[in-house]
Amino acid sequence: MEKTSRIAILGGGIGGLVCASELNHRAGSKAEIIVFDRSDYHTYQPAFLHLALGERKLDKIRRPLEKLKKQGINFLSGDIFRIDQENMVINAEHGDFEFDYMVISLGTQLDPGALNGFEDNALNLYTADGAARIKEALGSFESGKIVIAVSSMPYKCPAAPYEMAFLINAYLKKKKRRENVEISIITPEPQPMPVAGAEIGQNLVNMLEAHDIEYLPKQKITSIDEKQVALEKKRVKADLIIGIPPHSCPEVIKDAGMTGKSGWLEVDRHTLKTKHENIYAIGDNTHIGLANGKALPKAGVFAKSQAQVVGVNLASELGGSTITKRKFKGNGGCFVETGGKRAAMGKGGFFHEPDPNIVLKKPSRINYMMKMFYEKYWMKAWI
Ligand SMILES: Cc1cc2nc3c(=O)[nH]c(=O)nc-3n(C[C@H](O)[C@H](O)[C@H](O)COP(=O)(O)OP(=O)(O)OC[C@H]3O[C@@H](n4cnc5c(N)ncnc54)[C@H](O)[C@@H]3O)c2cc1C
Repeated sequence: MEKTSRIAILGGGIGGLVCASELNHRAGSKAEIIVFDRSDYHTYQPAFLHLALGERKLDKIRRPLEKLKKQGINFLSGDIFRIDQENMVINAEHGDFEFDYMVISLGTQLDPGALNGFEDNALNLYTADGAARIKEALGSFESGKIVIAVSSMPYKCPAAPYEMAFLINAYLKKKKRRENVEISIITPEPQPMPVAGAEIGQNLVNMLEAHDIEYLPKQKITSIDEKQVALEKKRVKADLIIGIPPHSCPEVIKDAGMTGKSGWLEVDRHTLKTKHENIYAIGDNTHIGLANGKALPKAGVFAKSQAQVVGVNLASELGGSTITKRKFKGNGGCFVETGGKRAAMGKGGFFHEPDPNIVLKKPSRINYMMKMFYEKYWMKAWI
């Protein structure tokens, strides 16, 4: 009789969804796949920026994970409490489940409570609920100062705070309110998108200047108080604080003792194998070191291509596909929306040595249209 292997996909975000779909498509009956997620929905997080501007409705940027069942993929809604990597058992809301393989794609854990005052005084750009609250706040914001505050590094999508600043700038201009509003970004980073290199950082700083957006890099935020961001040596007054909360590796991975020195799940950069047999990890919960000592940024573009590599390779291992095994090569890019229906595009090889070779294409309408098209494609392609 044909052997069917049981595969647990932990997380139904970008990595989990793509891996489940790719594997299911290629391995067919050789794989019994179960996706676990505490959320009933797959939500396209890049669209939070547009949710914050009132340009999207939540229902348009999420899909029920139950729909996976139509593709023959099982979905179990609820928390994963424990990963037993020795016995290949997942303890989740519905009980204990034993597997032959696991793919861990639980993303980052957002820890707003780890920065004093964040929960009470900042609006969290990185949740759907927070983005909806930003929309309300911007709707009635007539004058004063808006601060976009990055709590700590690493954080997912290093372009997002910059895009938010550019988009708020354009939004306020359109509403004819920009003259009475100051916009600032406060961040511990030495420059925008540090992994992309000094030249790209300087280009982005120039763009911020051109749009009259103040940039305060290398700042450690010690607390977020009512209408104030406290830094080590000064306080910055603000009428509206939009925050990127501290990120960490999900608790359930830490509890399993699976994190390395980096504090994240460390994997082989090409195969995404962990040091535990038959366990792979992809996406934001991983750490992949680069030749220059920095880490691969946490971004959906990498979660997706890593998921495809693991999906194809697992299918091949199970004998469901004759396709040649693939390697994750660290290539990718991201759009940086600059407002006025324009976007720049940073793209290149992050495994290039000694430094990633990233090129930033100037803001254009075409890049913007490609970004919009990609979102539409995403909402139909996988689920
Ligand atoms: C505002 C914003 C803009 C962005 N823009 C871009 C962009 O333009 N380009 C880009 O490439 N990336 C972008 N990103 C980043 C991108 O969304 C993430 O990098 C990507 O989603 C990572 O995929 P993942 O599968 O690793 O994790 P996620 O997509 O976060 O999925 C993790 C899943 O695991 C589930 N989970 C976690 N813990 C548990 C548990 N214990 N039990 C059960 N379920 C659990 C979660 O509910 C979640 O569904 C953006 C992110 C934000 C917030």
